[in-house]
Amino acid sequence: THTHLSDNCIFCKIIRGDIPSMKILETDESFAFMDIDPLSKGHCLVIPKYHAEFLHQVPDEYLVDVMPLTKKIAIAAGLKEYNVLQNNGKLANQAVPHVHFHLIPKPNQTQGLS
Ligand code: 5GP
Ligand code: ZN
Repeated sequence: THTHLSDNCIFCKIIRGDIPSMKILETDESFAFMDIDPLSKGHCLVIPKYHAEFLHQVPDEYLVDVMPLTKKIAIAAGLKEYNVLQNNGKLANQAVPHVHFHLIPKPNQTQGLS
């Protein structure tokens, strides 16, 4: 198992459990965990268990697992409004070179006010 992971990638290390993360759920092909520097409360990342820098390098068998897992988390968290984002390349603001889908809740901005 894990034959498609890289030895020197931070997200591959998170998948292996070699560095800690706040894991949410995983399947045979995908892994979901909380973002360490969240853009909003509940910001998490869903990644294929296949090391590739760009979306177009990921085999379909992994990609077809990522969206259902993202959807499952959105439902479980009771999200109603949110962004799903995936950046490819430095010009597109990609910082970590392992494909990842951001799930970013957009909480009601008036919540808790007056
Ligand atoms: P990118 O800009 O590459 O699309 O987003 C990378 C995301 O990964 C950022 O939101 C950043 O906070 C998150 N991140 C970077 N390093 C770590 C880490 O070691 N652990 C976790 N949980 N998230 C990370
Ligand atoms: Zn990787």
